[in-house]
Amino acid sequence: MPKTEVVKAETTVWIDGSFGEGGGQILRSSLSLSLVTGKPFRIENIRANRQKPGLLRQHLTAVQAAAEIGSAEVEGAALGSNALTFVPGKVRSGEFRFAIGTAGSGTLVLQTILPALITADGPSRIEIEGGTHNPAAPPFDFLQRSFVPLIERMGPKVKLELQRYGFYPAGGGRIVVEVTPTDVLKPIELEKRGEITSKKATALVANLPYHIARRELETVGKLLNWDAESLRCEDTKNSVSPGNLVMIELASSSVTEIFTAFGKLGVSAEDVAKDAAEQARAYMHSIAAVDEHLADQLLLPLALAGGGSFSAVNLNMHAKTNMEVIRQFLPVQFGMFEAEGHNRVTVQLQ
Ligand code: AMP
Repeated sequence: MPKTEVVKAETTVWIDGSFGEGGGQILRSSLSLSLVTGKPFRIENIRANRQKPGLLRQHLTAVQAAAEIGSAEVEGAALGSNALTFVPGKVRSGEFRFAIGTAGSGTLVLQTILPALITADGPSRIEIEGGTHNPAAPPFDFLQRSFVPLIERMGPKVKLELQRYGFYPAGGGRIVVEVTPTDVLKPIELEKRGEITSKKATALVANLPYHIARRELETVGKLLNWDAESLRCEDTKNSVSPGNLVMIELASSSVTEIFTAFGKLGVSAEDVAKDAAEQARAYMHSIAAVDEHLADQLLLPLALAGGGSFSAVNLNMHAKTNMEVIRQFLPVQFGMFEAEGHNRVTVQLQ
């Protein structure tokens, strides 16, 4: 059937990219869901609520990656494009390489294609070049130690390797991923968090003076009352550009959460550390398992698994918007209940 007819077909999902959060996640979730369900979609007003609307390099790479994996026909895949039609074919597994060409987030490109690859009919190896640690995106460490372990609990195996760091604005990082898919995605349940069993703060400096990391760790130590054992500096030259971030990692028996703040010009090392420490402190004060980023990112895999539940510190606009996008592709019901100062989210396929 010619593409225009497919697009008119009843199965085509129409997405308004300006609703709710109005950001890149609406596009990325649509791509993921289209690949897995086989439903074509048309999106308009792409990233309408962002300062530079339309497709940036990261989004365009996500579209190209999804098109390659899903043998899709695509209209509107160009930098700056505000509308796109995506008609998926058969998902294939194998070896893939995607280069963003800027510091655009490689982890977000990976998250776009991961749902299709973990349910594909063979293993895959994917190499992605671009940003690995970007503000407003999951840092590589978050994907590796927070998000992916939960995905693996659903059945597939996903091995992540960071070969080179990539920071804004130069990029140049490299992530290699090996995926062993599963026949059936299993639902997971993450109820109240329970006790925190390990805690670690890492200050990372790439091609920057060591004193930045030392000051950041001192600040985290003081604010959270942690001793030197829990504070660690990573001083790397394995990056084409400078970069700095603070990551605070808290693990319990059910989940690992990572809170991140990025160094930038004009912001003191102490303020960067304070930002990460405050996020971690709020999580420690809650009894919920999942903080806001994991909450919005878990919805789609749970919907594909046909169900599941989690307790969340809070549900932001990303989460609520993502629920809407998922509902457009799958007959899924999300429940949100407030209990004892946190939220409980349930996912159920109808
Ligand atoms: P968007 O703003 O629509 O492009 O979506 C950004 C995505 O990145 C969302 O899924 C956020 O949860 C995720 N994200 C942003 N900041 C972080 C962070 N510090 N840690 C983990 N995920 C993040």
